[in-house]
Amino acid sequence: MSAKSAFNHARVQQEDLHARKSSMGPIEPDWDVWRAIADASCADIDRCWTCGACDNGCPVSLATGRLRPQRNVRMAVYGMLDPLLALPDIWYCLSCRRCLQGCPNRVKPYELHGYLQNEALQRGIYAYDFLTRYRKLFAEFQRVRWRAAARCFKDELTTLPDETWYQWLKRPLPQALYRPVDMRHTHIHEAAKPAELLAGQACFTCSECSSCCPIVCEGDVFDPQRIIRMANLGLADELLRSPAIWLCLGCERCSEACSQTVSGYAIIRRLQLQAVEMGLVDPLLPVRLLEADHIIYPKFLDEIDTLIGLYRMK
Ligand code: SF4
Ligand code: SF4
Ligand code: SF4
Ligand code: SF4
Repeated sequence: MSAKSAFNHARVQQEDLHARKSSMGPIEPDWDVWRAIADASCADIDRCWTCGACDNGCPVSLATGRLRPQRNVRMAVYGMLDPLLALPDIWYCLSCRRCLQGCPNRVKPYELHGYLQNEALQRGIYAYDFLTRYRKLFAEFQRVRWRAAARCFKDELTTLPDETWYQWLKRPLPQALYRPVDMRHTHIHEAAKPAELLAGQACFTCSECSSCCPIVCEGDVFDPQRIIRMANLGLADELLRSPAIWLCLGCERCSEACSQTVSGYAIIRRLQLQAVEMGLVDPLLPVRLLEADHIIYPKFLDEIDTLIGLYRMK
């Protein structure tokens, strides 16, 4: 964490703590605000029994310790809307839904974070173009994830100097990573295709999956429709060797959205397994990617902190 962002982070926490201490000690739940948050967020916060499973599954929490969905849900249950809106944490959420997938009570912390983001914007806590800059940063970060995955194909990513971080963040990927497709020469070996990939042939390229994917960005970096299309065209070689298939967060929104009942997530997962089974990537790659998260996520959160510092209204 940079000195500036560490300072901002600590200051928010101190203000929160000070407000609580000076206001009389134990926190008194505000049931009206709690009800309003519960109704508006659709996050089912009233089902939370504070088991902490969401923290243990959250990739941002695991990599940085700076996002705690359990705490945010608890604060919402206590009706602590204003402190929540002031937290930078609500912008750290990737919307990957792992918190929901691990929650025994099907609480949806990511929905709470989405609601809080909207509320903060509607209340004018941030200058008008904050969201545009935030989304741009989020998309640029997928380039970093792509390059980190590419590095992990060969070896471990142990350090990432600031200069390299900014190069990875700001430079688009080289254009020629995917070759142009000559449709006359694509071969679809149906007999050799696993069931998940065969099911993908129902795709009629409507883009619903891409529209709802939280990390969709530049086509060369990550786009589920593009991956499904390539799989259908028999371009398995490019896909199996591409870092792109390792960027998927596993939220399964693409599968839920597809009117043709194609599971983009199942296809991508199958491609990952195939890449390992065929020896194209090291079986330890998933472990290396988790370790790389410990290097790239803190830097990503620092960038968000800087953005918040620049755009938070007085
Ligand atoms: S996993 Fe679910 S029940 Fe457990 S703390 Fe998180 S939101 Fe609450
Ligand atoms: S959706 Fe957000 S809070 Fe939930 S696991 Fe993913 S990053 Fe963490
Ligand atoms: S939503 Fe379904 S049909 Fe549409 S592009 Fe995606 S996989 Fe294809
Ligand atoms: S599961 Fe689908 S929607 Fe979710 S990140 Fe992966 S490709 Fe995108």
